[in-house]
Amino acid sequence: MTYNKLTPEEEDVILQKGTERPYSGKYANQHETGIYTCKQCNVQLYRSEDKFDSHCGWPSFDNEIEGAVKRVPDADGVRTEIVCNNCGAHLGHVFLGERFTSKNTRHCINSISMNFVAADKVKTQRAVFASGCFWGTEYHLSKVDGVISTTVGYTGGHKDNPTYKEVCTGTTGHAEAIEVIYDPEKVTYKELAKLFFETHDPTQLNRQGPDIGYQYRSEIFYLNDEQRETAEKLITILKKKGYGVVTKVTHANTFWEAEDYHQDYYDKKRTLPYCHFYMKKF
Ligand SMILES: [Zn+2]
Repeated sequence: MTYNKLTPEEEDVILQKGTERPYSGKYANQHETGIYTCKQCNVQLYRSEDKFDSHCGWPSFDNEIEGAVKRVPDADGVRTEIVCNNCGAHLGHVFLGERFTSKNTRHCINSISMNFVAADKVKTQRAVFASGCFWGTEYHLSKVDGVISTTVGYTGGHKDNPTYKEVCTGTTGHAEAIEVIYDPEKVTYKELAKLFFETHDPTQLNRQGPDIGYQYRSEIFYLNDEQRETAEKLITILKKKGYGVVTKVTHANTFWEAEDYHQDYYDKKRTLPYCHFYMKKF
């Protein structure tokens, strides 16, 4: 995925972790319904429902879109910085215990780190799946009508910026995974999740065919409760049909994009996956 080009003012905040002057940003007093997205990578970060007036001069939210932001100790040793979970863009800081709202949490965000998309313009959704070698998973999901883009990468582990070599050792905890950006008016999460189950063997523990190791596990990384419930329901259906499904269902955390030469592997090679075949299961 290529990131949006930033202006020097945007770079000061997003890359250099600066802070815009209070009341200078365009979203501090905005009350329209919609979604706030990352200026650098367009991933959805915050909903207008979670925005509140803190009168501090910056947009304030008491909750994030699940999995969208990452908390890191600030270099000042006191505050907690928040960055975009997808691209690492600096957003602002999170403060607890101020009693502004019942959630007792304030995400204090620089307007310049975000774009606002009005509710009637919000189009895309995101999903993250792991089902063995990510080339095969991507091959099938990228062919679906309504899928806008697919990216292969690593998630679910404990090391930042993992490389393919590191993930291959099976010791970083990451799974080879695929991120899907899709248009929910054309394809549903349920349809994508069904295809995920039907293009790999969810009964194999920590392997897919010839690929053996924890990084080849079957796992759904959900981004919200609706995705989690859909995943769990489909697993229940499969188990009733006699499949001993071992697929894990886990809250999404950072998705680390894989090296360029892994993206669209089978389409570049013009060959077919050896490890992922379609088999009707529902
Ligand atoms: Zn981002």
